[in-house]
Amino acid sequence: MIGISKWRVQGMRDPLMQRVKQQLGVETVPFYENESPEKAASKRTIRELGARRDGPLNPDRVAVDDPQAMAETVKGVARDLGADMVGIARLTPVMINIGENLPHDTVICMGFHEDYCAVVKGADAVEAQAFGAYQRCAETSTALAERLRGMGWPGLAHHNGGCDVMAIPALYAAGFGELGKHGSLINPEYGASFRPSFVTTTMPLAVDAPLVFGVQDYCENCNLCTNNCPGDAVATAEPIVTEGVKRWIVSTEKCYPYSRYRQEYCHICVDVCPYIHKENGDGERRGIYKQYMKARRDAGWKAPKSDVVHAATE
Ligand code: SF4
Ligand code: SF4
Repeated sequence: MIGISKWRVQGMRDPLMQRVKQQLGVETVPFYENESPEKAASKRTIRELGARRDGPLNPDRVAVDDPQAMAETVKGVARDLGADMVGIARLTPVMINIGENLPHDTVICMGFHEDYCAVVKGADAVEAQAFGAYQRCAETSTALAERLRGMGWPGLAHHNGGCDVMAIPALYAAGFGELGKHGSLINPEYGASFRPSFVTTTMPLAVDAPLVFGVQDYCENCNLCTNNCPGDAVATAEPIVTEGVKRWIVSTEKCYPYSRYRQEYCHICVDVCPYIHKENGDGERRGIYKQYMKARRDAGWKAPKSDVVHAATE
């Protein structure tokens, strides 16, 4: 199946990144320059796992007579391997990067949560959560793909060390949740504080359905992400509809000066979203959320993260 979705080049080869660099008149990208030892180690592990995305198949294939039962088994294995959320969708061309040819028809989606309590500990703590989650994404998808191949079925892992899957359409179809105004998928248990990875396969597996629980209606009158974004990058215009799904456009060009060209990690649009506690009723997260939002209010709603963290921890 050949993919049809355009994707943005990541890292320094991203033309938009280069354009913003010129606009700002700077020589370096602080987000890439300032790497903690932990972040560097995570990135190294992820790169190494990129070499193990695929591998030989066991010629002794396990028969699948009941796709529903096998889907439950595979989800259980993924959770045992470290995934916090698992859903399955039928693969479609819009879920694949343009021009990539995947010989598979099913995508197993996994989510790995970030500890929300990190938001009051500062930008470095939030960044450590993100890269820790990315590493778990890579480790678990690699291990799950190997398990499938061990059962005689194709299994190709997709993570930051190599990925042909477009995250949002796959996660949406697999029932992870709805698209919020900030452009990330919102799940009732983890809000948007999670990172995804995937395994594509031809193993016959029952698929999940999209999960609609009122997020987009709530977004219409919320605007906390819009009002807290230091770059005014979050959805100020009317949403558009893609493949029948409403989505708001976030300006990457306006986002980059804050998410790439400052010393600290941003992530503010996700951290201010009330869905971190709204549906799941997690009292600890609600308390942290209120503490964080008070610090944001005191620092000025659109203050970059480092100013707010100072207020939250003094
Ligand atoms: S902060 Fe509010 S408007 Fe933004 S995504 Fe979350 S619920 Fe929607
Ligand atoms: S990461 Fe920061 S700058 Fe980018 S959209 Fe979110 S809040 Fe705005």
